[in-house]
This record gives sequence, C-alpha cells and structure tokens, in this order.
Amino acid sequence: MARWLIVLVLLAGPMHAAGQISREAEIASCLVGEIRTWGDGRDQRAVAPQLLLVYDHAGAPPWITAGQVTAALDRAAAAWAPCGVPVQRVASAPPSPGLVRVQWNDAGARGDFGQADVGARTLSLGPAAFRLLRERNPKYPATQTLQMVVSHEMGHLLGLMAHSRRCVDVMSYYDDGKGHRCSARSMSLLKSVPEYRSELPTACDIQRCQAANGNAH
Ligand SMILES: [Zn+2]
Repeated sequence: MARWLIVLVLLAGPMHAAGQISREAEIASCLVGEIRTWGDGRDQRAVAPQLLLVYDHAGAPPWITAGQVTAALDRAAAAWAPCGVPVQRVASAPPSPGLVRVQWNDAGARGDFGQADVGARTLSLGPAAFRLLRERNPKYPATQTLQMVVSHEMGHLLGLMAHSRRCVDVMSYYDDGKGHRCSARSMSLLKSVPEYRSELPTACDIQRCQAANGNAH
C-alpha cells in the first residue's frame, strides 16, 4: 500500500505538468479524442504534392507591408511543414497544379479576412476586412490577424476542408452559427483572452493534415 502511494506521487508530478492547462500546452499537444470538426467539409489531399506560393502585393492596405505578408507566409509554411506537404514561396513560377496565387482581393476574400479557393488555387486576403478591423480596433495588431488568416487558409490548401471544434486550432470556428460553441480544455481560460485561436497550426491541426495526406505516423 505504502509503496503504491509513492509510485502514485511520483507519477502525479510529471502528469500534472503535462496536463497543465495553458493555451501554449493546448497548442503543443493533441490529446486522444480532441480532433473534432464541425462536419462542414470533407478533408482531402492537398491541391498538389508540393505548393508554390507567388505573392502579389497589389491592392494591399497601405499599413501592411509586403515584407509582413511574406514573413507571415513563410512562418505558416514552416509551421505546416510537419504535415509532409512542402510549401515554398517563390518570386514567380510557370503554371503547375501546385502554383497558388496569394493576392489582395475583396471579391476573392468574399468580404472576409481571407479565403482559399482550392479549385482556382488562390489565397485571397480581404483589404476591406483589414480596414474595418483597423477602424474598430486600431490598437489590435494587424500582423497577428494576418498570420492567423494566412495559416488558416494554407490549411485549406493542404486539404483541411472541415473546420475544427477545438477553439485553439488555427482551423477552428468558434461557433457554428446555431448556438454551439467550440471547446477548450479550460473554458474560463478561453474567455480570458480576446483571441484564443492559435496564429500557427497546432498539434491537432498537424495531425489532421497528416491524416488527410496519408502521412500519418
Ligand atoms: Zn476556413
């Protein structure tokens, strides 16, 4: 009995540390049963075995520089790399199935911050949405929103068509518009920050991307 108690105490230490509830821990680990989607799409393989991104800065809001966008694209590409589908930014490239145009276009973004068109191979960013964000909340860093949008839309191009029910995932939707909310390990922690969603793919986003592309380990 006494011996078991010691074993339990020894186990309790690391288990508690691993299970510590923080946004960072939730981003870094994907627990069994945590991959859940809203069922609003069917995951599939990436649009091509390798993606080449060509960025066009025309039409960008004047307070967002080309360097900020390309940095966001590069960070997202590096963060998605464990999925197993290489994403690379290039200055120009001949037409190929993996060539994706990244552009500023309100029609393409459908009034939102961004939209990926898997068929047309475009990732459109919405100048109007970024303008509205700046008007409503001038202090909120646009680069943070930009990073999140770029990471999210890249996830669609990598084959993640359904949105995640796990609030912290970059592929999440906070609600389904029908009164259902996304889930988090701590719902009170969720309410403590203005944006709980990760700016880069989480461990669950990566796992789902690997499964969609047949790269699961
Ligand atoms: Zn989406």
